Amino acid sequence: MPSMLDAVVVGAGPNGLTAAAELARRGFSVAVFEALDTVGGGARTEELTLPGFRHDPCSAVHPLGVGSPAFKDMPLDRYGLEWLHAELPMAHPFDDGTAAVLSRSVSETAASFGPRDAGAYRRLVAPYLGTWDTLVRDFMSLPLTALPRDPVTLARFGVDGLPPSTWLMRRFRDDRARALFAGLVAHVIAPLGGLATGAIGLVFALAAHTGGWPLPRGGSQAISDALAAYVKDLGGTIHTSYEVKRLDDLPPARAYVFDTSPTALARIAGFGRFYDRYRYGASVYKIDYALDGPVPWTAAEPRRAGTVQIGPGSREIGAALHQVSVGTPPRTPFLITAQPSLVDPSRAPGGKHVFWAYGHVPHAWEGDLTEAIERQIERFAPGFRDLILARATAGPPQLAARNANYVGGDIACGAASGLQLLLRPRISLFPYHTPHPAVFLCSSATPPGPGVHGMSGHNAAKAVWRHLRKARR
Ligand SMILES: Cc1cc2nc3c(=O)[nH]c(=O)nc-3n(C[C@H](O)[C@H](O)[C@H](O)COP(=O)(O)OP(=O)(O)OC[C@H]3O[C@@H](n4cnc5c(N)ncnc54)[C@H](O)[C@@H]3O)c2cc1C
Repeated sequence: MPSMLDAVVVGAGPNGLTAAAELARRGFSVAVFEALDTVGGGARTEELTLPGFRHDPCSAVHPLGVGSPAFKDMPLDRYGLEWLHAELPMAHPFDDGTAAVLSRSVSETAASFGPRDAGAYRRLVAPYLGTWDTLVRDFMSLPLTALPRDPVTLARFGVDGLPPSTWLMRRFRDDRARALFAGLVAHVIAPLGGLATGAIGLVFALAAHTGGWPLPRGGSQAISDALAAYVKDLGGTIHTSYEVKRLDDLPPARAYVFDTSPTALARIAGFGRFYDRYRYGASVYKIDYALDGPVPWTAAEPRRAGTVQIGPGSREIGAALHQVSVGTPPRTPFLITAQPSLVDPSRAPGGKHVFWAYGHVPHAWEGDLTEAIERQIERFAPGFRDLILARATAGPPQLAARNANYVGGDIACGAASGLQLLLRPRISLFPYHTPHPAVFLCSSATPPGPGVHGMSGHNAAKAVWRHLRKARR
């Protein structure tokens, strides 16, 4: 290691590793320090239940990863990252045994909403289909770390997306499309009536029609391993089992980049109450299952979908989100489930399956949601319980213990609601900067927020290299 490094990165999650790679590829010397004994943060894969069953304890499905400008700019395929697509990105079953779907095809998606809403859906997505790559780069670079390439489409997207999702859902006459959209908004645990929640639904829908909702072969660890191998090839070093508690724990560097929560950064760097107004939000109760066979969904569509949303209607999904936001565990939780071994048989022994499900629960909740989750899955897949070989459960305390960024079990590292959905961790045009000119924040507590896309790391790295170039001059 040189006596003075250009940059030290704390935390080897997707954003920390992306920031390290961006700096290393520009010729800066970089070292990464990670508290756990493996890299990955929220993108990792482990044998959580039985031998041969490879589970993703956190992220599994990556609509934002496959389309991420940061990942597209790096040769991650050379380091083993391969995206696998289920026949359908997502299915949303209903009590009558049918399902709405998000397909790669707009027509199949629209048809699944029924004749009264098919046209409205086509009209909603049409303006963005040919411009998605540019649009995603523009809005994931907000607030203005790069000039918008297509300001007109970005402005139009703002008009559709900035209002609450409930406004956008009024375009639909039946609940099939509304329920599917409400479920999409729930992926970031945002209240349906919140500012800019329409954009969340639109982003996930458009991602399905453009890059799909793929899973990495071998599990989400493959993303982290590819990023880490790239960093090392570029000359960076990665130190695991190294929890940083104070700035003095780190070697001398011209810049320090934190893939941590703002609260942890304030503690480590001595920023006092600088981030005290940052709010942490609701959590999830996650179950990883080892199954004796595929989930016996009543409807046909979920049997060929990578992701299955479980919420009988938009009202129930809205109610579940509202309940967790006021501190009550939902009686009928909305569930997001993933079926990795449908597309990747390497994830489980022959004929067996891994299955991933979570429901939302209040911040720091200490109860057990297993019964409510399995009751909901049984409702749409009778016989599911008979297939369970083993399960690994994790509520907010276990999630927080697993990753210091999940404060109170908040998997988004900060509530994705109100202004904080867009402007995080503070209202500022320079969210990656901190009170110290050589200290930067790059975690999902900064824009564009939660998800495995590396764009917070990518954007933060731009602020860091401007600082480093100035320091060199
Ligand atoms: C159950 C669950 C399901 C999810 N599903 C999906 C999904 O399907 N698709 C998707 O795109 N996203 C999903 N996510 C969200 C996604 O995992 C996160 O948004 C993403 O990982 C954030 O990346 P990050 O780099 O900002 O932080 P993290 O991935 O949280 O990484 C932070 C890293 O910093 C380390 N660290 C923290 N403090 C210190 C310290 N003091 N010293 C040293 N190291 C430190 C941590 O150990 C960790 O490795 C899910 C998350 C969870 C928990």
